[in-house]
Amino acid sequence: MIRALFKVRRTQFWSLASALVFAIILTGNNGFAHDPKKNPVATKIFSNLSQPTQTRASAIGSYAKGCLAGAEQLPFNGPNWQVLHPQRKRNWGHPETVALVKRVSKAAADIGWTGLFIGDISQSRGGPMPYGHRSHQIGLDVDIWLTQPRKLGLTNEELKAIKPISVRAKNGKKTNANWTTEHMDILKVVASDEAVDRVFITAPAKIAMCQNAEGDRSWLQKIRPLGGHHQHFHVRLHCPKHSTDCIPQTPSITKISQSADGCDHTLEWWVTTALAPYKKPAKPAKKRPAKRSTLDFTMKDLPKQCLSVIHAD
Ligand SMILES: [Zn+2]
Repeated sequence: MIRALFKVRRTQFWSLASALVFAIILTGNNGFAHDPKKNPVATKIFSNLSQPTQTRASAIGSYAKGCLAGAEQLPFNGPNWQVLHPQRKRNWGHPETVALVKRVSKAAADIGWTGLFIGDISQSRGGPMPYGHRSHQIGLDVDIWLTQPRKLGLTNEELKAIKPISVRAKNGKKTNANWTTEHMDILKVVASDEAVDRVFITAPAKIAMCQNAEGDRSWLQKIRPLGGHHQHFHVRLHCPKHSTDCIPQTPSITKISQSADGCDHTLEWWVTTALAPYKKPAKPAKKRPAKRSTLDFTMKDLPKQCLSVIHAD
């Protein structure tokens, strides 16, 4: 009887001790514990990690379901760029993304702009974000603002006061007076870059480029219309060569595009049907299971390699 009691106490002690050790291991990482038993949402884990892993750079998973190892930080200020929302700390990307930002910022300066305002890339270890984006999870997405900086090196107060311009007319059908040939020249440089898979921008901008681009028009294929995106455009890079766990987007740009430059009839839909007021369908559509929001993702929804990413030093 006494022996049995002792046995119970001993096992209790060991489970308590191992739980304690486990908790210490987990809290070692930037002070945030990921207790798998509680299964917290992934946004909470990733947004609390302030430093990248010290491992080789790797984009893991897909653009809207993944994480990033070995991220590189884009400096808040550079010779031709400034990060518009430094307080968000989303200036981390795969090194190829950081290199691309530097290349296109330099090109923008050569075109005659002061430089570029850079929006969000990813968190220091990628992953889902608590606000702002579904994608941008694997360090291969970057938003670039359509507002030309009057000068660079602004203070945080000056940055907060910036009111981004829109290049889309109020009726949503055309570009407005804010749209310039320099915008097209910059987008041409971006879309022509080999590292770039596709660029998302408001349909009126794509239509304007379809109407005005001269010479080689193949770069236009990579420019894809999307809702919103009239104050910034969104650049998505291909899976980098050594990121073996990176999942490319499907369908590919050549598959999705109905012509060599993507200047086809599908563009019309964006500035006609898509703008029509919403009408309730006569027959209710079959209920499809709701897509899980990235805000609800837990570590179980992400590629299993992301567990090592959040626990690595
Ligand atoms: Zn974006």
